[in-house]
Amino acid sequence: MDLTLILTEECNLRCTYCYQKTFRRNELPVDVGVAAVRAALGHVQAHPGTSLAVTYFGGEPLLRAEAMFQIQHAALELARGAGALLTAKVPTNGLLLTEPIVERAGEGRLYVNRRQRADVPVRCPAQE
Ligand code: SF4
Repeated sequence: MDLTLILTEECNLRCTYCYQKTFRRNELPVDVGVAAVRAALGHVQAHPGTSLAVTYFGGEPLLRAEAMFQIQHAALELARGAGALLTAKVPTNGLLLTEPIVERAGEGRLYVNRRQRADVPVRCPAQE
């Protein structure tokens, strides 16, 4: 089962091809994210042989890195308790990828993949 958690609609880039038109500042509360994981794990438990794949998405999800790590920490605990297999990934434009973030992602068993296209122009909102 796939579960996509949109941590924020905000982004630190303005790619010309972006599907997001508004970049609103709506944010997913940590407790709602954890509740979504709990519900998804209930579904996985009811269907033996399945697993849960969580994607932390945005906007730019690393703008909410702290919330992401909190949810992932709880998700791992819940999955352990449920005896379920959980994988997680965070597609990112990479601008906020620092050594500590990469380390914490590794500790949290979070796969980081950079999704920025190199062939199209981007703008930084700070320069608008
Ligand atoms: S990094 Fe992604 S969300 Fe941000 S502007 Fe570019 S395409 Fe849109």
